[in-house]
Amino acid sequence: MSSSKQAKLADLGLSITIPDGWQRITHSIWSEHHPAMHYQANGTDEAHAECELVCSRQGNVQVSPRAAAEAIERELAEAYAKFEYTDTRLGGEPATRLDCTEAFGAPEYMRHYCLEHNHHLVRLRFITTNRAVSEPEFDATVASIRLGDPATECVFGELALVDYAPAALECVLAGSVIAHQRGEKLSGRHLIGSLVHGDSGIAASILQSLGATAERLGWAPPCDDDDSDFDIHRLPVPKSVFSLLTSVVPRYARDTIRSHHVLLGILSKDNVAGGPDLLAELGIGLAEARAALADEIGQERDTRCAFCNFCRKPRFDVKLLVPSAFSHICDECIASCKALLDDRQPSHGVMRRYTGAEKSHVFTGCGYCGDKSNLFTAASESYFICGTCVERTSAIAERQKENTHAR
Ligand SMILES: [Zn+2]
Ligand SMILES: [Zn+2]
Repeated sequence: MSSSKQAKLADLGLSITIPDGWQRITHSIWSEHHPAMHYQANGTDEAHAECELVCSRQGNVQVSPRAAAEAIERELAEAYAKFEYTDTRLGGEPATRLDCTEAFGAPEYMRHYCLEHNHHLVRLRFITTNRAVSEPEFDATVASIRLGDPATECVFGELALVDYAPAALECVLAGSVIAHQRGEKLSGRHLIGSLVHGDSGIAASILQSLGATAERLGWAPPCDDDDSDFDIHRLPVPKSVFSLLTSVVPRYARDTIRSHHVLLGILSKDNVAGGPDLLAELGIGLAEARAALADEIGQERDTRCAFCNFCRKPRFDVKLLVPSAFSHICDECIASCKALLDDRQPSHGVMRRYTGAEKSHVFTGCGYCGDKSNLFTAASESYFICGTCVERTSAIAERQKENTHAR
Protein backbone atom coordinates (compact mmCIF):
# COMPACT_ATOMS: atom_id res chain seq x y z
CA MET A 1 0.00 0.00 0.00
CA SER A 2 1.81 3.14 -1.13
CA SER A 3 1.40 6.24 0.98
CA SER A 4 0.32 8.38 -1.97
CA LYS A 5 -2.85 6.32 -2.26
CA GLN A 6 -3.70 6.91 1.37
CA ALA A 7 -5.92 9.96 1.72
CA LYS A 8 -6.06 11.35 5.25
CA LEU A 9 -8.14 13.95 6.99
CA ALA A 10 -5.83 14.27 9.95
CA ASP A 11 -7.86 16.87 11.81
CA LEU A 12 -10.82 14.48 11.73
CA GLY A 13 -8.77 11.36 12.41
CA LEU A 14 -10.05 9.70 9.24
CA SER A 15 -8.08 7.89 6.56
CA ILE A 16 -9.10 5.99 3.47
CA THR A 17 -7.22 4.00 0.82
CA ILE A 18 -7.91 5.11 -2.72
CA PRO A 19 -8.03 2.34 -5.39
CA ASP A 20 -5.12 2.14 -7.83
CA GLY A 21 -5.80 4.06 -11.00
CA TRP A 22 -8.01 6.60 -9.27
CA GLN A 23 -6.93 10.21 -9.26
CA ARG A 24 -7.84 13.24 -7.23
CA ILE A 25 -9.98 15.82 -8.98
CA THR A 26 -10.92 19.28 -7.85
CA HIS A 27 -14.15 19.93 -9.69
CA SER A 28 -17.16 18.27 -8.22
CA ILE A 29 -20.20 17.50 -10.31
CA TRP A 30 -22.06 18.11 -7.07
CA SER A 31 -20.92 21.68 -7.07
CA GLU A 32 -22.94 22.81 -4.07
CA HIS A 33 -20.63 20.78 -1.83
CA HIS A 34 -16.98 21.35 -1.14
CA PRO A 35 -15.72 17.80 -0.92
CA ALA A 36 -12.87 17.07 1.45
CA MET A 37 -11.83 14.30 -0.92
CA HIS A 38 -12.91 13.73 -4.47
CA TYR A 39 -11.49 11.04 -6.75
CA GLN A 40 -12.43 9.56 -10.08
CA ALA A 41 -11.54 6.30 -11.78
CA ASN A 42 -9.58 6.88 -14.93
CA GLY A 43 -8.40 4.80 -17.83
CA THR A 44 -11.59 2.82 -18.20
CA ASP A 45 -14.17 3.26 -20.92
CA GLU A 46 -16.49 0.71 -19.37
CA ALA A 47 -17.33 2.81 -16.37
CA HIS A 48 -17.10 6.36 -15.23
CA ALA A 49 -16.91 6.31 -11.46
CA GLU A 50 -16.35 8.87 -8.75
CA CYS A 51 -15.93 8.80 -5.01
CA GLU A 52 -16.53 11.89 -2.91
CA LEU A 53 -16.28 12.53 0.79
CA VAL A 54 -18.06 15.49 2.33
CA CYS A 55 -18.01 16.39 6.00
CA SER A 56 -19.72 19.10 7.94
CA ARG A 57 -19.45 20.00 11.57
CA GLN A 58 -22.36 18.97 13.77
CA GLY A 59 -23.82 22.20 15.08
CA ASN A 60 -26.47 22.96 17.66
CA VAL A 61 -28.94 20.90 15.66
CA GLN A 62 -27.47 17.40 15.50
CA VAL A 63 -28.17 15.41 12.36
CA SER A 64 -28.22 11.62 12.73
CA PRO A 65 -26.68 9.46 9.97
CA ARG A 66 -30.15 8.10 9.17
CA ALA A 67 -31.62 11.62 8.87
CA ALA A 68 -28.71 12.61 6.62
CA ALA A 69 -29.40 9.60 4.38
CA GLU A 70 -33.08 10.54 4.20
CA ALA A 71 -32.11 14.07 3.20
CA ILE A 72 -30.07 12.57 0.36
CA GLU A 73 -33.09 10.55 -0.76
CA ARG A 74 -35.22 13.71 -0.88
CA GLU A 75 -32.50 15.40 -2.89
CA LEU A 76 -32.30 12.55 -5.41
CA ALA A 77 -35.93 11.49 -5.57
CA GLU A 78 -36.36 12.98 -9.03
CA ALA A 79 -33.35 11.13 -10.47
CA TYR A 80 -33.72 7.66 -8.96
CA ALA A 81 -36.63 5.27 -8.58
CA LYS A 82 -35.37 3.01 -5.80
CA PHE A 83 -33.76 3.66 -2.43
CA GLU A 84 -32.57 1.02 -0.02
CA TYR A 85 -31.34 1.67 3.53
CA THR A 86 -29.00 -0.67 5.40
CA ASP A 87 -27.61 -0.34 8.93
CA THR A 88 -23.91 -1.06 8.68
CA ARG A 89 -20.53 -0.14 10.16
CA LEU A 90 -17.81 2.07 8.77
CA GLY A 91 -14.38 1.92 10.42
CA GLY A 92 -16.11 0.25 13.36
CA GLU A 93 -18.69 3.02 13.84
CA PRO A 94 -22.41 2.58 13.16
CA ALA A 95 -23.36 4.03 9.78
CA THR A 96 -26.31 4.18 7.43
CA ARG A 97 -25.84 2.92 3.88
CA LEU A 98 -28.14 4.17 1.14
CA ASP A 99 -28.24 2.56 -2.31
CA CYS A 100 -29.90 4.50 -5.12
CA THR A 101 -30.76 2.39 -8.15
CA GLU A 102 -32.83 2.62 -11.32
CA ALA A 103 -31.83 6.08 -12.39
CA PHE A 104 -34.33 7.61 -14.77
CA GLY A 105 -32.90 7.45 -18.30
CA ALA A 106 -29.39 6.34 -17.28
CA PRO A 107 -27.62 3.22 -16.03
CA GLU A 108 -26.18 5.13 -13.08
CA TYR A 109 -25.88 3.67 -9.63
CA MET A 110 -25.13 5.62 -6.46
CA ARG A 111 -24.18 4.47 -3.00
CA HIS A 112 -23.89 6.64 0.12
CA TYR A 113 -22.63 6.15 3.63
CA CYS A 114 -23.51 8.55 6.43
CA LEU A 115 -21.86 8.44 9.83
CA GLU A 116 -20.89 10.64 12.72
CA HIS A 117 -17.27 11.00 13.74
CA ASN A 118 -15.43 13.54 15.90
CA HIS A 119 -18.40 15.93 15.95
CA HIS A 120 -18.67 15.86 12.17
CA LEU A 121 -21.27 14.34 9.90
CA VAL A 122 -19.34 12.40 7.29
CA ARG A 123 -20.98 11.51 3.98
CA LEU A 124 -19.21 9.22 1.56
CA ARG A 125 -20.70 8.98 -1.91
CA PHE A 126 -19.93 6.68 -4.83
CA ILE A 127 -21.37 6.99 -8.30
CA THR A 128 -20.79 4.87 -11.39
CA THR A 129 -22.19 4.32 -14.86
CA ASN A 130 -21.44 0.59 -14.55
CA ARG A 131 -22.30 -1.00 -11.25
CA ALA A 132 -20.76 -4.41 -12.03
CA VAL A 133 -17.35 -2.95 -12.90
CA SER A 134 -17.15 -0.46 -10.03
CA GLU A 135 -18.70 -2.28 -7.08
CA PRO A 136 -15.61 -4.30 -6.07
CA GLU A 137 -13.61 -1.06 -5.91
CA PHE A 138 -16.32 0.64 -3.87
CA ASP A 139 -16.34 -2.29 -1.43
CA ALA A 140 -12.54 -2.22 -1.09
CA THR A 141 -12.54 1.54 -0.48
CA VAL A 142 -15.21 1.27 2.19
CA ALA A 143 -13.34 -1.57 3.90
CA SER A 144 -10.17 0.56 4.03
CA ILE A 145 -11.66 3.35 6.13
CA ARG A 146 -9.96 3.90 9.47
CA LEU A 147 -11.42 6.17 12.11
CA GLY A 148 -9.32 7.42 15.00
CA ASP A 149 -8.58 10.49 17.05
CA PRO A 150 -7.59 13.72 15.40
CA ALA A 151 -3.82 13.97 15.04
CA THR A 152 -2.02 16.17 17.56
CA GLU A 153 -0.16 17.64 14.64
CA CYS A 154 -1.01 17.35 11.00
CA VAL A 155 0.27 18.76 7.75
CA PHE A 156 -1.51 20.87 5.20
CA GLY A 157 -1.50 18.09 2.64
CA GLU A 158 -3.86 16.13 4.91
CA LEU A 159 -6.29 18.80 6.03
CA ALA A 160 -10.03 18.65 5.68
CA LEU A 161 -10.20 21.83 3.68
CA VAL A 162 -13.96 21.68 3.70
CA ASP A 163 -14.39 23.56 6.96
CA TYR A 164 -12.39 26.61 6.04
CA ALA A 165 -13.18 29.55 3.82
CA PRO A 166 -10.28 30.51 1.52
CA ALA A 167 -9.33 33.58 3.58
CA ALA A 168 -9.17 31.56 6.81
CA LEU A 169 -7.09 28.86 5.16
CA GLU A 170 -4.81 31.49 3.74
CA CYS A 171 -4.39 32.85 7.24
CA VAL A 172 -3.35 29.48 8.71
CA LEU A 173 -1.19 28.74 5.67
CA ALA A 174 0.63 32.08 5.71
CA GLY A 175 0.94 31.88 9.51
CA SER A 176 2.63 28.48 9.19
CA VAL A 177 5.04 29.86 6.59
CA ILE A 178 5.94 32.81 8.84
CA ALA A 179 6.48 30.48 11.82
CA HIS A 180 8.59 28.15 9.65
CA GLN A 181 10.73 31.02 8.35
CA ARG A 182 11.28 32.35 11.86
CA GLY A 183 12.00 28.88 13.22
CA GLU A 184 9.17 29.23 15.74
CA LYS A 185 6.21 27.10 16.73
CA LEU A 186 2.99 28.22 15.07
CA SER A 187 0.84 30.29 17.46
CA GLY A 188 -1.78 33.01 17.49
CA ARG A 189 1.01 35.56 16.97
CA HIS A 190 1.73 34.09 13.54
CA LEU A 191 -1.95 33.96 12.70
CA ILE A 192 -2.25 37.67 13.48
CA GLY A 193 0.92 38.24 11.46
CA SER A 194 -0.60 36.49 8.47
CA LEU A 195 -3.83 38.47 8.82
CA VAL A 196 -1.77 41.68 8.82
CA HIS A 197 0.07 40.56 5.69
CA GLY A 198 -3.06 39.21 4.05
CA ASP A 199 -5.16 41.10 1.59
CA SER A 200 -8.39 39.14 1.65
CA GLY A 201 -11.12 38.56 4.18
CA ILE A 202 -12.80 40.78 6.75
CA ALA A 203 -10.07 40.29 9.35
CA ALA A 204 -7.32 41.62 7.06
CA SER A 205 -9.34 44.71 6.17
CA ILE A 206 -10.15 45.38 9.84
CA LEU A 207 -6.51 45.14 10.87
CA GLN A 208 -5.50 47.40 8.01
CA SER A 209 -8.16 49.96 8.96
CA LEU A 210 -6.73 49.96 12.50
CA GLY A 211 -3.29 50.76 11.11
CA ALA A 212 -1.70 47.35 11.62
CA THR A 213 1.07 47.30 9.03
CA ALA A 214 3.86 44.87 8.26
CA GLU A 215 6.36 47.57 9.30
CA ARG A 216 4.79 48.01 12.72
CA LEU A 217 4.80 44.26 13.13
CA GLY A 218 8.50 44.16 12.27
CA TRP A 219 8.10 40.86 10.45
CA ALA A 220 8.99 40.29 6.85
CA PRO A 221 6.05 39.07 4.82
CA PRO A 222 6.14 35.36 3.99
CA CYS A 223 8.23 35.02 0.83
CA ASP A 224 8.11 32.50 -1.96
CA ASP A 225 11.91 32.32 -2.14
CA ASP A 226 13.33 29.10 -3.43
CA ASP A 227 13.94 27.04 -0.36
CA SER A 228 14.89 23.60 -1.53
CA ASP A 229 13.61 21.68 1.50
CA PHE A 230 10.46 23.75 1.78
CA ASP A 231 7.14 22.16 0.86
CA ILE A 232 4.01 23.94 1.97
CA HIS A 233 2.03 20.71 2.06
CA ARG A 234 4.44 19.29 4.61
CA LEU A 235 4.25 22.22 7.04
CA PRO A 236 3.13 21.01 10.45
CA VAL A 237 0.06 22.60 12.00
CA PRO A 238 -0.09 22.03 15.77
CA LYS A 239 -3.27 20.83 17.36
CA SER A 240 -3.51 24.04 19.40
CA VAL A 241 -4.33 25.91 16.19
CA PHE A 242 -7.17 23.52 15.43
CA SER A 243 -8.28 23.70 19.03
CA LEU A 244 -8.51 27.44 18.48
CA LEU A 245 -10.24 27.16 15.15
CA THR A 246 -12.57 24.32 15.96
CA SER A 247 -13.28 24.86 19.67
CA VAL A 248 -13.37 28.60 20.21
CA VAL A 249 -14.70 29.54 16.82
CA PRO A 250 -17.48 27.08 15.95
CA ARG A 251 -19.91 28.44 18.49
CA TYR A 252 -20.49 30.94 15.72
CA ALA A 253 -19.06 29.34 12.64
CA ARG A 254 -21.07 26.19 12.33
CA ASP A 255 -20.50 25.61 8.65
CA THR A 256 -17.48 27.57 7.51
CA ILE A 257 -14.63 29.11 9.44
CA ARG A 258 -13.86 32.52 8.01
CA SER A 259 -10.92 34.81 8.65
CA HIS A 260 -12.86 37.10 10.98
CA HIS A 261 -13.75 34.06 13.08
CA VAL A 262 -10.02 33.39 13.39
CA LEU A 263 -9.47 36.98 14.54
CA LEU A 264 -12.37 36.68 17.00
CA GLY A 265 -10.77 33.54 18.38
CA ILE A 266 -7.37 35.19 18.73
CA LEU A 267 -8.87 38.22 20.50
CA SER A 268 -10.63 36.05 23.05
CA LYS A 269 -8.90 36.00 26.42
CA ASP A 270 -9.44 32.24 26.69
CA ASN A 271 -7.90 31.32 23.36
CA VAL A 272 -5.33 28.55 23.37
CA ALA A 273 -3.02 29.90 20.67
CA GLY A 274 -2.03 33.19 22.30
CA GLY A 275 -2.06 36.48 20.41
CA PRO A 276 -3.73 39.44 22.23
CA ASP A 277 -0.30 40.58 23.45
CA LEU A 278 0.85 40.98 19.86
CA LEU A 279 -2.15 43.16 19.15
CA ALA A 280 -0.99 45.41 21.98
CA GLU A 281 2.49 45.52 20.39
CA LEU A 282 0.81 46.70 17.21
CA GLY A 283 -0.66 49.56 19.20
CA ILE A 284 -4.22 48.34 18.79
CA GLY A 285 -6.52 48.22 21.79
CA LEU A 286 -8.66 45.14 22.37
CA ALA A 287 -11.81 47.28 22.66
CA GLU A 288 -10.97 49.12 19.44
CA ALA A 289 -10.45 45.85 17.55
CA ARG A 290 -13.70 44.43 18.94
CA ALA A 291 -15.68 47.50 17.90
CA ALA A 292 -14.25 47.31 14.37
CA LEU A 293 -15.06 43.60 14.20
CA ALA A 294 -18.60 44.16 15.45
CA ASP A 295 -19.17 46.84 12.80
CA GLU A 296 -17.71 44.83 9.91
CA ILE A 297 -19.46 41.63 10.90
CA GLY A 298 -22.73 43.54 11.33
CA GLN A 299 -22.39 44.85 7.78
CA GLU A 300 -21.57 41.37 6.48
CA ARG A 301 -24.76 40.12 8.15
CA ASP A 302 -22.84 37.21 9.60
CA THR A 303 -25.62 36.40 12.04
CA ARG A 304 -23.58 33.60 13.60
CA CYS A 305 -21.41 36.25 15.27
CA ALA A 306 -23.17 38.22 17.96
CA PHE A 307 -21.78 41.14 19.94
CA CYS A 308 -23.06 43.15 22.88
CA ASN A 309 -24.26 46.35 21.21
CA PHE A 310 -23.19 48.40 24.21
CA CYS A 311 -19.65 47.27 25.11
CA ARG A 312 -19.02 45.41 21.80
CA LYS A 313 -17.71 42.25 23.44
CA PRO A 314 -18.33 39.11 21.38
CA ARG A 315 -20.51 36.33 22.72
CA PHE A 316 -17.69 34.08 23.84
CA ASP A 317 -16.12 36.78 26.01
CA VAL A 318 -19.23 37.25 28.14
CA LYS A 319 -21.31 34.88 30.25
CA LEU A 320 -24.66 35.83 28.78
CA LEU A 321 -25.99 37.80 25.85
CA VAL A 322 -29.69 38.71 25.94
CA PRO A 323 -31.03 39.44 22.46
CA SER A 324 -33.86 41.67 21.35
CA ALA A 325 -35.11 42.28 17.83
CA PHE A 326 -32.68 45.19 17.51
CA SER A 327 -29.73 44.58 19.80
CA HIS A 328 -27.89 42.36 22.26
CA ILE A 329 -26.84 43.22 25.79
CA CYS A 330 -24.30 41.27 27.85
CA ASP A 331 -24.44 40.32 31.54
CA GLU A 332 -21.70 42.86 32.39
CA CYS A 333 -23.61 45.77 30.85
CA ILE A 334 -26.81 44.57 32.52
CA ALA A 335 -24.98 44.57 35.88
CA SER A 336 -23.71 48.14 35.29
CA CYS A 337 -27.24 49.34 34.49
CA LYS A 338 -28.65 47.54 37.51
CA ALA A 339 -26.09 49.31 39.74
CA LEU A 340 -27.02 52.68 38.25
CA LEU A 341 -30.70 51.87 38.71
CA ASP A 342 -30.09 51.04 42.38
CA ASP A 343 -28.05 54.26 42.82
CA ARG A 344 -24.81 52.36 43.20
CA GLN A 345 -21.60 53.19 41.33
CA PRO A 346 -20.91 50.41 38.80
CA SER A 347 -17.47 48.84 39.38
CA HIS A 348 -16.64 49.09 35.71
CA GLY A 349 -18.31 49.24 32.33
CA VAL A 350 -19.48 51.65 29.69
CA MET A 351 -23.16 52.12 30.58
CA ARG A 352 -24.68 55.38 31.77
CA ARG A 353 -28.09 57.01 32.06
CA TYR A 354 -29.39 58.73 28.94
CA THR A 355 -30.71 62.18 29.75
CA GLY A 356 -30.56 63.73 26.28
CA ALA A 357 -33.42 64.61 23.96
CA GLU A 358 -35.04 62.36 21.37
CA LYS A 359 -32.69 61.95 18.41
CA SER A 360 -33.85 62.54 14.86
CA HIS A 361 -31.83 59.76 13.18
CA VAL A 362 -31.76 57.03 15.86
CA PHE A 363 -34.65 55.26 17.54
CA THR A 364 -34.31 56.84 21.00
CA GLY A 365 -36.13 54.12 22.89
CA CYS A 366 -35.57 50.77 24.59
CA GLY A 367 -34.55 48.15 22.02
CA TYR A 368 -36.36 45.53 24.12
CA CYS A 369 -39.80 47.05 24.78
CA GLY A 370 -39.83 50.37 22.90
CA ASP A 371 -40.29 52.45 26.07
CA LYS A 372 -38.88 55.97 25.78
CA SER A 373 -38.24 56.83 29.41
CA ASN A 374 -35.71 55.79 32.07
CA LEU A 375 -33.14 54.87 29.41
CA PHE A 376 -29.55 53.65 29.65
CA THR A 377 -26.99 53.80 26.86
CA ALA A 378 -23.27 53.57 26.05
CA ALA A 379 -20.85 56.01 24.40
CA SER A 380 -22.10 55.82 20.80
CA GLU A 381 -25.69 56.48 21.98
CA SER A 382 -27.09 54.28 19.22
CA TYR A 383 -28.73 51.64 21.44
CA PHE A 384 -30.85 51.98 24.55
CA ILE A 385 -32.38 49.82 27.25
CA CYS A 386 -34.98 50.94 29.79
CA GLY A 387 -35.00 50.41 33.56
CA THR A 388 -37.83 47.87 33.41
CA CYS A 389 -35.93 45.75 30.88
CA VAL A 390 -32.76 46.09 33.00
CA GLU A 391 -34.69 44.54 35.93
CA ARG A 392 -36.04 41.80 33.67
CA THR A 393 -32.71 40.89 32.00
CA SER A 394 -30.95 41.18 35.35
CA ALA A 395 -33.27 38.49 36.72
CA ILE A 396 -32.42 36.29 33.69
CA ALA A 397 -28.70 36.82 34.38
CA GLU A 398 -29.18 35.92 38.07
CA ARG A 399 -31.04 32.72 37.19
CA GLN A 400 -28.28 31.79 34.74
CA LYS A 401 -25.66 32.35 37.45
CA GLU A 402 -27.56 30.07 39.86
CA ASN A 403 -27.87 27.36 37.21
CA THR A 404 -24.12 27.50 36.56
CA HIS A 405 -23.41 27.25 40.30
CA ALA A 406 -25.87 24.39 40.71
CA ARG A 407 -24.01 22.33 38.12
ZN1 LIG B 1 -21.85 44.56 27.09
ZN1 LIG C 1 -37.53 48.29 27.86
